[in-house]
Amino acid sequence: MNIAVVGTGYVGLVTGTCFADSGNRVICVDNDQNKLKALNKGKIPIYEPGLESLFERSTKEKRLTFTDNLRDAVEHAEIIFLCLPTPPGADGQADLQYVLQVAEDIGGIIKDYKIIVNKSTVPVGTADKVREKIANLTDVEFDVVSNPEFLREGAAVDDFLRPERVVIGTSSQKAAEQMQLLYEPFVRSGNPIIVMDERSSELTKYAANSLLATKITFMNEVANLCERVGANVDNVRRGLGTDSRIGKRFLFAGIGYGGSCFPKDVQALDYTSDDLGYQFSILKSVMDVNNKQKTSIVRKLEEYYGGELKNKTIGMWGLAFKPETDDVREAPSLYIADELIKIGANLRAYDPEATKNFKQTLGKQKSSKIDFVNSPMDAIDGVDALIICTEWNEFRRPDFTWFHEKMKKPVIFDGRNLYDLERAKEAKLTYYSVGRPAVNGKK
Ligand code: NAD
Repeated sequence: MNIAVVGTGYVGLVTGTCFADSGNRVICVDNDQNKLKALNKGKIPIYEPGLESLFERSTKEKRLTFTDNLRDAVEHAEIIFLCLPTPPGADGQADLQYVLQVAEDIGGIIKDYKIIVNKSTVPVGTADKVREKIANLTDVEFDVVSNPEFLREGAAVDDFLRPERVVIGTSSQKAAEQMQLLYEPFVRSGNPIIVMDERSSELTKYAANSLLATKITFMNEVANLCERVGANVDNVRRGLGTDSRIGKRFLFAGIGYGGSCFPKDVQALDYTSDDLGYQFSILKSVMDVNNKQKTSIVRKLEEYYGGELKNKTIGMWGLAFKPETDDVREAPSLYIADELIKIGANLRAYDPEATKNFKQTLGKQKSSKIDFVNSPMDAIDGVDALIICTEWNEFRRPDFTWFHEKMKKPVIFDGRNLYDLERAKEAKLTYYSVGRPAVNGKK
């Protein structure tokens, strides 16, 4: 099939590349000239495991190309995917300006039947708004489909190639058939393509992300309670997760959820509910608890140092909001660094992929106060304490003698529960984690 993908970010580039890999001819559109320059030179502007080889194959065979010319892409395509940003506004409402502007632009271009598919995460009713924008400008037949994307950054290619389900929201039989045809190669193992109405499809995405954020947050609250009652959240997790009604995933306690999706999607669903006069109370609690959880590790440091964090040097391992990505949007590391800088601590930070984005997001002034280094070893050199913010694999099995050799004292605050408590004890570390008893902690 001939496909256009408008917006070539995390979702758009993965979508375009994976569709091209299954034999479709894909034109990706973006208005960021630097991004396009890089892509046209064969450089991938994001870090996503597995993307490079598919990208190379499809670009070499010219099944995947990039442009800033929406008209060319729309004229080429039978199906047009919108993978545009829907960032939160100041009030938490999803900002639809990018989606609606492109819808309007498409309305001025189309000359024959097109299927316009919204892959961005959007509030209920957006398909109707997109339809209206286009219909105002053309008499040509078209269909608007909601097709929320469930890929996870860090595993995006795998998720796209082997989705657990594909949700398609449309009232058009013709569009549903075309979409099924397009997705069939990705669900050959029998996973379902679920066709429903547009509104249910739009809500499915928000409900899924909000439920996952709730599960994480519930477990973080259990962890906070564990610390107060002397229980170990790892044990509680095993006891809970083996109940098939609960399931094992999304039960790991830590320093809160971040990323480009959960925070904004929970906020947006809460906004929609408020707007309709419905109090979705659990969402407000989830946001409140998560905001506190992000910097809970700073509270632990303060307690350990009796409030004297000024001029202490703190190492940070991990800046990305999760491993295997360079994305730092809403990452707990940003909030932790911000608080520690305000307190007057010195920071030395290492991340294998996300340093550039972290500097950009934190801003020049604050970043200038952080010593960014190129290895985990350098990040602990001479520091008073180490904070672990991201569970990159390379942090999981360090030689514990490093902590003695490199740090002033081997004091670790682990926001991701990477180490076994017995091993930490044997290695004579001072080790604080989340929801587990402190090892050699202050009495
Ligand atoms: P992104 O910011 O990485 O990418 C968006 C791209 O759109 C950027 O490259 C930007 O330059 C481009 N763009 C903006 N305006 C444009 C225009 N007028 N014409 C052409 N290009 C334009 O965003 P993303 O992470 O890919 O997310 C896109 C959508 O998908 C959001 O709604 C998000 O919530 C949703 N989503 C994201 C993920 C994820 O893990 N990132 C997962 C599922 C769903």
